[in-house]
Amino acid sequence: MKVNHADIVISAVSQAQYPEDQKPEIALAGRSNVGKSSFINKMIQRKNLARTSSKPGKTQTLNFYIINDAFYFVDVPGYGYAKVSKREREAWGRMVEEYLQTREALQATVLLVDFRHPPTEDDLIMYDYLKYFDLPVIVIATKLDKVKKSQRDKQLKVLKEELELEPEDVIIPFSAETGEGKDQAWQALSSYLV
Ligand code: GDP
Repeated sequence: MKVNHADIVISAVSQAQYPEDQKPEIALAGRSNVGKSSFINKMIQRKNLARTSSKPGKTQTLNFYIINDAFYFVDVPGYGYAKVSKREREAWGRMVEEYLQTREALQATVLLVDFRHPPTEDDLIMYDYLKYFDLPVIVIATKLDKVKKSQRDKQLKVLKEELELEPEDVIIPFSAETGEGKDQAWQALSSYLV
C-alpha cells in the first residue's frame, strides 16, 4: 500500500461524532505502551501523526485517521492501565462497546501484542472481546527487533497457542524500528478494504 495522504479527522467520544462518509474502517486496539502509535506511524510513513508518547489514561478518545481519502484507521485508546479509576474504566468500556457494536463501516480490527512476552490477561480478554463482536482480528506482534532471531519461532508459537486464534485470524511479527512485517500487515489489511 502506498500511503499518499494521512490525517487525523476527529477525536470522538460518542457516535454522533463519527465520520459520516461510510468509508471502511479498521480499528486498532492494544495495551498502553505496546507500540500502537509507532505501528500507525510506520504504516502511514509519518513520524509523529499518532503520538508516540501518549500518556496512559489521558487520551480516552477514538481517533479517526483518514488514509488516502479511502479508509480510516480508528485508534482505540489503550486498555489495561493500572492507575485509572473504576469510573474511567467504565467510561472507556461504554465508548469502545458503542463503537464496536454499532459501527457498520468497521471491517476488521488490529490487536497489538508485545512479541517479547506471552499474551497478558488483558490481551486475551481483548481478543475474546473482539471475537464476541464477530470481528476479524489481525494480531500485530510488536517490537520484533528486540527478540533474537533464534527465539522468534518459539515466541510466535507461544503467542499463537495462548491466544487460540480462530482460522480467519492471522498474527504478524512487526517492528516499527526496522519495518519488518509492514508489507504483510498491509497485505492482511487490504483484504478488508475492497
Ligand atoms: P503506544 O502507547 O501503544 O502507542 O506505544 P508507543 O508507540 O508510544 O511505543 C511505546 C514505546 O515502545 C516507545 O518508546 C517506542 O519507541 C517503543 N517501540 C514501539 N514499537 C517498537 C518497535 O517495533 N521496536 C522497538 N525497539 N521499540 C518500539
